[in-house]
Amino acid sequence: NADAAMYRAKEFGRDNFQFYAPEFNTRAHEKFVLQEELRNALAHSEFILLYQPQVDLRSGDVFAVEALLRWKHPTRGIVAPNTFIPTAEETGLIVPIGDWVLHEACRQNKAWQDAGLPPLTVCVNVSARQFREPNLIGRVVNALKDSGLEARYLELEVTESLIMQDVELAVATMNALQNLGVQISIDDFGTGYSSLSALKTFPVARLKIDKSFIKDLAVDENDQAVASAVISLGQNLHLRVIAEGVETDDQVAFLRKNNCDEMQGYHFSKPVSAQGIEKLLDGKRDG
Ligand code: C2E
Ligand code: MG
Ligand code: MG
Ligand code: MG
Repeated sequence: NADAAMYRAKEFGRDNFQFYAPEFNTRAHEKFVLQEELRNALAHSEFILLYQPQVDLRSGDVFAVEALLRWKHPTRGIVAPNTFIPTAEETGLIVPIGDWVLHEACRQNKAWQDAGLPPLTVCVNVSARQFREPNLIGRVVNALKDSGLEARYLELEVTESLIMQDVELAVATMNALQNLGVQISIDDFGTGYSSLSALKTFPVARLKIDKSFIKDLAVDENDQAVASAVISLGQNLHLRVIAEGVETDDQVAFLRKNNCDEMQGYHFSKPVSAQGIEKLLDGKRDG
């Protein structure tokens, strides 16, 4: 559409661009405004992280948390990542924002450990642009050094589609991360196009079954087939499997019956503040 608008605009001369392509121009303008706001948000520390527990389905223990980014906007309130990460990704702002996430997640996890909480793994989402950045390894090393967190307590979540964009590069980067001692998981698994033969060459520890397959798990036979196939795949490749978006008892029952290792979702807890995690784990300890 943008191309078509551009073409039309060219046809009528540059000065008529605004007149002939109002839609394109509005979108470009909105993106520009958002970009400036995101830059400002970073400078004024408006980003926060929430943490969602991940639970072992056999023991019931919380062993990890996923860090999830939120923008605490001065007038709009809490803004969800899906509304600004695509623009951050397109403009490259995801690199400094992601760097902040990495540092903050490592700092918080070390603070929990220092406060005597049982050691957790913190999982950080990494987008394609961040992952391709030549300095990713250096940034991860710095976040670990600055926080004092041991590498084994950090896990990076990458998506299947990100890996498939350039398999060779992705495997090299993942190997370098693994050599540091950082763990890797494949997020939104089942929605991308990774070939099963390539999967065995990926140095990953876990598969996260995408929540779209979990949503109707209790009733939809196709979702049941996909979920149980991913669980067996994980077992055969010696990878742990976690289901995300788990909300109901029926979903938990299905996952248990099919020997899924772990779960994450509103059934156990929504994403909560760092203090919320402390309360939750203290409660578990006392009870
Ligand atoms: P994701 O990594 O797949 O994260 C899971 C999403 O599912 C989160 O949405 C989480 O709040 C939501 N969720 C968890 N449990 C349930 C449940 O039981 N039911 C339902 N319906 N949803 C559940 P959120 O926090 O809005 O994040 C959306 C996406 O934004 C994430 O998907 C991830 O791709 C991206 N994202 C979040 N934080 C970051 C970040 O720091 N950096 C990057 N690059 N991307 C991030
Ligand atoms: Mg994730
Ligand atoms: Mg996911
Ligand atoms: Mg996602």
